[in-house]
Amino acid sequence: MINEQKIPCPVCKTQIPFDVSLLLQGAKFSCPKCQSVVAISNNSMTQAEEAVKQYEKLKQSSKKQKDTRR
Ligand SMILES: [Zn+2]
Repeated sequence: MINEQKIPCPVCKTQIPFDVSLLLQGAKFSCPKCQSVVAISNNSMTQAEEAVKQYEKLKQSSKKQKDTRR
């Protein structure tokens, strides 16, 4: 599985697919529709990291649930 998520384009609201780990490394992604570039700012960097942590937590807890269910 790729660590891919979507972010709405600030200009045209198209969902832009992006790779979280790449984004955290400072990569830029362009909107497939209007070509505007989306990059992470230092400010939202922490937010993104938090989101990734939450996502990992969710993934792990859902795995645990499956294990205990059998
Ligand atoms: Zn756009």
